[in-house]
Order: sequence, then structure tokens, then C-alpha cells
Amino acid sequence: MTEHKTEDLASQNSPRPLVDVRDLKVEFTLRKGLLSRVPLRAVDGISFQIGDGETVGLVGESGSGKSTTGRAILRLIEPTSGSVSLDGHSVTDMSRSELRKARRQMQMVFQDPYSSLDPSMTVGDTLAEPLKIHDGISRRAAQGRVIELLEQVGLARHHVDRYPYEFSGGQRQRIAIARAIAVNPKLIICDEAVSALDVSTQNQVITLLERLREEYKLSYLFISHDLGVVRHISHRVVVLYLGRIVEEGPVERVYSQAAHPYTEALLSAVPIPDPELQRSRSRILLHGDMPDPSSPPPGCVFHTRCPYAMEICRQVVPESTPVDGGGSVACHLQSSGTQPLQGASLAHLTATL
Ligand code: SF4
Repeated sequence: MTEHKTEDLASQNSPRPLVDVRDLKVEFTLRKGLLSRVPLRAVDGISFQIGDGETVGLVGESGSGKSTTGRAILRLIEPTSGSVSLDGHSVTDMSRSELRKARRQMQMVFQDPYSSLDPSMTVGDTLAEPLKIHDGISRRAAQGRVIELLEQVGLARHHVDRYPYEFSGGQRQRIAIARAIAVNPKLIICDEAVSALDVSTQNQVITLLERLREEYKLSYLFISHDLGVVRHISHRVVVLYLGRIVEEGPVERVYSQAAHPYTEALLSAVPIPDPELQRSRSRILLHGDMPDPSSPPPGCVFHTRCPYAMEICRQVVPESTPVDGGGSVACHLQSSGTQPLQGASLAHLTATL
């Protein structure tokens, strides 16, 4: 896959991030049996920022809270507590009508464009719709902009009168992206946006997203379970486990020196293009399933699957501590200095599993 990132982002020195997520919690109520209801904390007090023009990858297994986080940022799901601000404006405090206006700044692209595109609408009508909603522009007046959008995502003007079923999966995702950029947003949340595509189409869509990021000065929250894809598009990565951030940092540091055993296990599953290196590498298999989020384990939530777990891990929640090379990790091995967990020791972890 082509490397797309080009620059050191000024955003990281920016006084105010574009998106500021603080202590975000999302809790659902689960029915258990006929009478009882139990709370399920899908997102458990996470904080992170996204700078102007920055792409942050949000990774973790299914059920880690990635998609819930994305939806809570846009308030497609109401957060239980915590705050989200966009460009200094508190999204969490907005009234419904303020939120409707703010939505033009925050768009989302989903995994399955077929279900997010109205099958009864032509592509032209689909792309004109956000212009009508947010700018009050009629379909006829929007025609020029619709054609421009189609061409910007690599489709042709004659596609304007076609319906979603007439396109391939990659083309439908291009239409979904065109609709997202139609109203000049600042943030696009891509939720597994290339996961359903084959590798070559994935690469084309990522190239497109990267070009649009530069042209439109966009920021992305790129949600994916595929760490190989995330590496190629993201500047920073945030690793979620059971609704909590276990590690975050610049992509270069996290992918070369993962500091959390969970991150390292996820990375060990990413194929390496060099067949010799691939053969010499061991896959870290995590045993067991992610615990039930309605009754998370005490202490470090990863301790039930971590081969390094110590007594303290079963009792005390690890604090987030800075990591050499940037970012932070929540692991007692790092905070106590008990054992360095980078490089050689993680190779040992590989051997022991
Ligand atoms: Fe493993 Fe303990 Fe670190 Fe959790 S805090 S990841 S259980 S070593």
C-alpha cells in the first residue's frame, strides 16, 4: 500500500485542537431477564484530541467502543457524561437546532454505503440533498456543485442520473464521500469506511481521502479494526479496549515500539509485505474473549488476557503515563518501571504465548 502521509503537522503545536474529547462516557442499559436491567458502559471516560488537518486512527477489536465513540462525538448517540468540542464550541451543550447547524462541520462515512445511500435517489439528488438542507440551494441550482463533487471523487458527470445499485462498492463509497464533503465539513468520521472493499479498492479510496484532506483541510477520525490500513492514513493512533484508551501516540512510535501488550498483540496480526520478515515473526494470540462490558474486571481491564498480569493489575486501574517517542500508555509495567515493555520484552511475550 502506498505511503500517503507527507508532513509533520503544525496542528500538533496548535493552541486549540479541532476536536477535544474529554472524559467521554457512554452508558447503555441492558435488559437481563424479565425484570433486571444492568448498565453497560460502552465508552468509559476517554479523552483525546484531533488537530486541524490531522487523521487520528481509532483501533480495537469489535466491541471495544470505537463506533460508539464516533457516534457520540456527532451526538448520533447521546453521551452519558464528558464533553466534546469542535473548534472551541461545545457539541455536548448544543441544543437540537444548534446541533443541526453544526452537523455540516461534522460528517460521517459508514462501512456500508449501500445502506447509507437511499436506493430510490439518483446520485445527483443524493449529493444535492445536503446542499439543500444546509444552504437552501435548489436541486437545479446545485447542479454545478454536484458535477464538481462527482469529479472530485473520481466519478464522471454522466453518473449523475444513475442509482446506487448501478455502482460497484468502491464507487458507492466514493459517492458517500462526495456527499460528506458537499458542505465543506471540518471533520469526517470514517467508520470502517474501507473495510468492505478489496485491497486495491481500499488503496484507491485511501488515496482519495488523503487528497481530499489536503484540498479541503479536513481532519479525520478513522475508525478501523485493520491496523494495516490505519497505519497508512493516520498521523496518530488511539487504541481502545473495553471502552478505555490503553495506548495512544504518533503512528511511527506506536507501530515500531508498542508499549501496551494489547497493542502489540493487535500489531502482531498485521501482515508484513516482506515474506522473509513475515515468516520470522510470531503472532501473539490473545486467549479468551473480551470481558462482558456490563461487568468489566477490576483493575486493568486487560488483565484477564494479559500474560504479564501481576497482582496489582487485578486491583488497581493503571494510570496513563507518557511514553518515550510520544503518546501515553496505561499499563503498570510502564508506570512502575517493573519491566520495560518495548522491543525485546515483547518478543519474549511472543515466545511465551
Ligand atoms: Fe497487563 Fe498489567 Fe499492563 Fe494490564 S496493567 S496490560 S494486566 S501488565
